[in-house]
Amino acid sequence: MTSISIRNAILNGEMTNIQIEDHLITEIGKAGEADRIINARKRIVMPGLVNTHTHAAMALLRGYADDMELQPWLEKKIWPMEKHLKPEHNYWGTRLACLEMIKSGTVAFNDMYINMEEAARAVDDAGIRAVIGYGFVDMFNEEKREAEIKGTKKLVKHINDMKSPRIRPSVAPHAIYTVSDEGLQWCASYARENELLLHMHVSETEKENNDCIEQRDTTPVCHLDELGFLGPDLISAHSVWLDDEEIGIYAKKGVKVSYNPVSNMKLGVARAMPYVDMRRVGMEPTLGTDGCASNNNLDMFESMKIAALLQKYKAHPTVLPHHENILMTTLWGAKALRLPTGEVAVGKEADLILVDTQRADMTPLHNPGSNIVYSTNGSAVSTVICRGRLLMEERKVKGEDIVLKKAAEAASSLAKAVREEER
Ligand SMILES: [Zn+2]
Repeated sequence: MTSISIRNAILNGEMTNIQIEDHLITEIGKAGEADRIINARKRIVMPGLVNTHTHAAMALLRGYADDMELQPWLEKKIWPMEKHLKPEHNYWGTRLACLEMIKSGTVAFNDMYINMEEAARAVDDAGIRAVIGYGFVDMFNEEKREAEIKGTKKLVKHINDMKSPRIRPSVAPHAIYTVSDEGLQWCASYARENELLLHMHVSETEKENNDCIEQRDTTPVCHLDELGFLGPDLISAHSVWLDDEEIGIYAKKGVKVSYNPVSNMKLGVARAMPYVDMRRVGMEPTLGTDGCASNNNLDMFESMKIAALLQKYKAHPTVLPHHENILMTTLWGAKALRLPTGEVAVGKEADLILVDTQRADMTPLHNPGSNIVYSTNGSAVSTVICRGRLLMEERKVKGEDIVLKKAAEAASSLAKAVREEER
């Protein structure tokens, strides 16, 4: 058991000390003895950030294809490259993503992709938290569905066998346009039998919404409701094209949404998630980056700012104030992922970050929350602690040079495989 004492940090505008014993925050106020003493003078202490929707290994596709429309982007660039993804690509891609997350203050994320055993291994090695789901895509084919059911069960068993307190499996059907109704119903009942979260893309584009209405004579959310799919265990990524009826159903069923403003704007989905309407019915939206192919980074500070700007541009400058933005990015995200963290409070898991205030973009400090959301970015994070373990100190992460080298090599080998196939 190790202990950490954080001395003289700024918490809610006041200077204080925080004591960590093993993986828990045990005291706020009095400075205690500890194995490690961290001088946090002129640093803000806040909960580690929670990213509720991403595809971590897509970090290898950063900058590979930009400035394209969604469909040709997927069909001509992303899918042909993903076809060549081997387990070692997923491992180093996820290590790269975890490194970037640590360097920008994120301590937990909700992931969905392929070769997820490797993602789990990478998260375990990196030291942060993740909820990891096998990207279930049956393309309305029974044989493929059986394979996806097997893949999901295998991943769940694998992660349970790891017995990591930081990693949990989820059930992750990709979307209504890639998974059959039978597949969705299997996912929902399997998740509920095993008390796992569901993670799915819902109502991302107008096309998805219109196609659903044309084919089923109902909206995506009403369709999912009829299938018995909706519940407080669902993390619904994007949720951009929801109408009032669908928002009402989400609120009633306790569904959690992940707002992905950067990805939505970059891929031009032509609408902002109806944040104000969701708040009006009492929902607590969470924040995600989506994968690096459509963002192109995992910096949740940057996403917080863009999240606010998009809603203000759409609705009113008073919408999504900075204190609420920080809640969305910490506590509400942690609650959605069912993590006992997201707050700097005694008894909570010790997932904390220190933000440096001795920077041009943090000076003056009229209001720390305002600077965090609107002025600075993830590079202001100096120190990261996850589950009581020091992962970054003075911006140094153990082994980061190796991760950068191996990830760059993995990305080159992937691009080479695509070029050779095209030839
Ligand atoms: Zn996504």
